[in-house]
Amino acid sequence: MHGVGVRAVKNIQELRQRATKTPTKGIPAPLRDTARRALIAWVDTAIQHQMSLNDVLRRLRDGEAAETVGRAAIAPQLIDPNGPVSQAACASGCAFCCILTGEDGGTITRLEAQRLYAALAPLKGEPDGRVWHPKACPSLDPASQICRAYAARPMICRSYISSDVSACETIANGSPAEGAGVLGAQALYLAVLILSRALLKGIVRVPTYSLSRVAAGAVDGEDAEAVLEAALHVPRELESEIARQAQVLKR
Ligand code: SF4
Ligand code: SF4
Repeated sequence: MHGVGVRAVKNIQELRQRATKTPTKGIPAPLRDTARRALIAWVDTAIQHQMSLNDVLRRLRDGEAAETVGRAAIAPQLIDPNGPVSQAACASGCAFCCILTGEDGGTITRLEAQRLYAALAPLKGEPDGRVWHPKACPSLDPASQICRAYAARPMICRSYISSDVSACETIANGSPAEGAGVLGAQALYLAVLILSRALLKGIVRVPTYSLSRVAAGAVDGEDAEAVLEAALHVPRELESEIARQAQVLKR
């Protein structure tokens, strides 16, 4: 960050104040308000931990606030006896959802991209998911169809569930189907990311990346910096992603 943000914002309290009124577009009002409260709470935690301004700016740029908020929102959904997770048909080795029908594979943060790259780079040259299916995520083990980067899988992989495996197979074959979708935590994660970007406007860009491009670059042995550059989204991709996710929201 090299002090860029320090010149644009004097201290974290000023950043927090900006967060209370930063304008955004492309997020429905109730979701925006929830995301704003969550982002401010994240900044408050940073203040309590006496983080430096540059550290806070770097973490916001890398998507740490979005991920923290998203994972906190997903945790109760995982144990809700009446929620969509309780109805899920998901199981290890079931991987139609890892057949990435769009070229992009999903929107991920800088932190998620770096973590995914680090998990997959040691597997360079090994057969990957594309041996099993040409559009499969390269993170997959082609023999078992188990994710080889499970601990490093991004938020989109953690929030996508289905009550019907055949719906996932249909979607993987390029047709729409009922039954599969993302948990509401994914929309909150994206909304916090959009707010983080708006908050840091004029200070530093909050980037997003293509999941499939990062995974492919890592297993193909490309250099980390080159992969991040090649996988970098155009800015409007984040707003497009939240609009797409709204259509497949489960709860
Ligand atoms: S989302 Fe669908 S394909 Fe993926 S694990 Fe769940 S049921 Fe299987
Ligand atoms: S990172 Fe893992 S869970 Fe996510 S799409 Fe790829 S193989 Fe599936």
